[in-house]
Amino acid sequence: MSDAPPSGDLDLERAQFDQPVHAEINCQVCGKPPGTTYFSLNGHPTCASCLAQQRAGQGSSFFKALVLGSLAGALGAAVYYGIRALTGYDLALITIVLGILVGLAVRRGAGSSTSPIYRAMAVALTWTAMCSTYAPMVAAGMGPDGDGAGLTGAALWIASLLFSLAVPFFMVRELEVLGIIIFAFGLWEAWRLSAPRPFLVEGPFVLTGASDSSAPIVEPTASRPA
Ligand SMILES: [Zn+2]
Repeated sequence: MSDAPPSGDLDLERAQFDQPVHAEINCQVCGKPPGTTYFSLNGHPTCASCLAQQRAGQGSSFFKALVLGSLAGALGAAVYYGIRALTGYDLALITIVLGILVGLAVRRGAGSSTSPIYRAMAVALTWTAMCSTYAPMVAAGMGPDGDGAGLTGAALWIASLLFSLAVPFFMVRELEVLGIIIFAFGLWEAWRLSAPRPFLVEGPFVLTGASDSSAPIVEPTASRPA
């Protein structure tokens, strides 16, 4: 009888993990074997063509960020308003999803840019999209049947949309704490997710014996940054 742990086995397993050799290397983007040469993007193997695509996505376009962010905001607002209109439930948590959608969409256009313009754009679009869901309610109050300004047509909707942008200030005045927290969290997600992701490329690494499925040998041709 022996209580000694099987340290030898553990060490062998650990030793295998420490080797820079993987039995199978597949591209993190397309999932295919990368051939004889591959790169590491943020620590994950990436084939040359996928890396080129990812590099192209690093370019910044103010117009693209604005269009994609606006579309995401409109989509999120439509879903939020649709659910509220159909079910009667005010699922304010959806506005957090709205912030996430807008943040990711703006980042697609912003690429690797760290400019605060894109962060502000994501927050402003999220603010507008969130508030626009209240525009029909505001319009009902301002329209001919309401007790507001008695506006009609396009003027009514433009005025309602502009007025709805102030909804968060009314939330503060009415001390709607939960609403304020959810609103702020949505804005925070838009701010956070519109920031560029890390883009750390290492390699190229040469994969020799790629046809031998048992144990390919990896030879790094560029050193990792310390
Ligand atoms: Zn790939």
